[in-house]
Amino acid sequence: MQIHIPAPLRVYTGQQDVVTVAGATVESALQGLCAQHPEMKKHLFTADNKLRSFVNLYLNDDDIRYLEGLQTPVKDGDALSIIPSIAGGAASLEAVAQLSHEDLPTLSNAEIARYSRHLILPEVGMEGQRKLKAAKVLCIGTGGLGSPLALYLTAAGVGTIGLVDFDVVDESNLQRQIIHSTPDVGKKKIDSAAEKLTALNPFTKVIKHETMLTSENALEILAGYDIVVDGTDNFPTRYLVNDACVISGKPNVYGSIFRFDGQASIFATKEGPCYRCLYPEPPPPGLVPSCAEGGVLGILPGLVGVIQATEAIKLILGAPEPLIGRLLLVDAWRMKFRELKLRKNPDCPVCGTHPTVTKLIDYEQFCGIGGQEKVANTIDQMQVQELKRRLDAGDDLVVLDVREPNEYMIANLQEAKPDLKFIPLGDLGKRIGELEEFKDREIVVHCKMGGRSQRAAEQLQAAGFTKLHNLAGGITAWSEKIDPKIAKY
Ligand code: ZN
Repeated sequence: MQIHIPAPLRVYTGQQDVVTVAGATVESALQGLCAQHPEMKKHLFTADNKLRSFVNLYLNDDDIRYLEGLQTPVKDGDALSIIPSIAGGAASLEAVAQLSHEDLPTLSNAEIARYSRHLILPEVGMEGQRKLKAAKVLCIGTGGLGSPLALYLTAAGVGTIGLVDFDVVDESNLQRQIIHSTPDVGKKKIDSAAEKLTALNPFTKVIKHETMLTSENALEILAGYDIVVDGTDNFPTRYLVNDACVISGKPNVYGSIFRFDGQASIFATKEGPCYRCLYPEPPPPGLVPSCAEGGVLGILPGLVGVIQATEAIKLILGAPEPLIGRLLLVDAWRMKFRELKLRKNPDCPVCGTHPTVTKLIDYEQFCGIGGQEKVANTIDQMQVQELKRRLDAGDDLVVLDVREPNEYMIANLQEAKPDLKFIPLGDLGKRIGELEEFKDREIVVHCKMGGRSQRAAEQLQAAGFTKLHNLAGGITAWSEKIDPKIAKY
């Protein structure tokens, strides 16, 4: 029988387009081919001898997947064709996919030179590169995830990149937010990011949305784009992005990071699940610490952001296996990747069969963040200047530091208050007895910024302590306003 070799693979058959082999099944015919041309093996099969997913085999006119697969019997006179599936199509973007070949923007000679490594890949080629040029991708955030993904999308030749950010570059961002550099500290992130992207690829149009994404502006901003890539670090924005994507029918390329762990998936495609199918409700506020509290390995957002950029590019190109319906879990500390199957939940409040959320809601309230202020008012907020004045005056105060031991080692208030108490927030419940003797004295609780100490003070209040103060701004404010020798971290 004969095997027809497609052009891209002929380099491994000495440019033969038809190879004659003997065999009783498709599998044994392919083994015959690989015996004659050993180079073919790794292009057709994976290391564990599975047919590669981008290779389709047709026996005469039929796809062998609908026959008996590799066990399909063959006979003399049959023709087996190898068809590398370069245009999966199933998940390609409607807006980009609807453009006919003629409608796609053309490439200048300068662009052809720039993208030559893409153009010689059959899976991208001229057509794919023109699709990339036609595509409009919205990046929410230019922080840890946003930095690498915006850089790679721009380098790859995505025609239009939208950036949403309203933050300012801080020194503590530079450990991971690689789009910003040391001279950018104090600059608006959106300006710093746009500058880098334009310098990297002047052919990419960068649109700046200098705002916080809100329920009021999200749908209007999303309307100008084909894909949304979520690089946010908080729950209200994550649910907002998800719901806005479902409502406006745009895929949401999701990534999240914490300490050494990352997650990635694609949500809100027509057939696939959304973020709410996975997590219908956010965790209660305070239960999941933010990266500012829990820390993050600086390289992890690079890893996860690049996965997001890869998936965005695959969506544009119509690659056959996008990360839809799969949640990729990354453990950078052990360097393990796991995958969970995700299913669309028919009862999902946003993308289910009878959605209850049909327009954008108040996500701060949904995530329980607005409700906290009520409690906050019952704890006195002490300013650092006031603490300094009272310590200098020799007032009878107990200072309680509720940060983690490694934070205590970076900086602490021991010089100002040699007998301070140190109990990490997580241990407070079981060690509360150590504070019993101070029950009737004034206690000033502090952490890094004032968030964890607020929760500690609430916990003490619930246990019957009455004279509580929360140090507003934490040790960071102390470093900024009282003693610059105290390291800021
Ligand atoms: Zn859903």
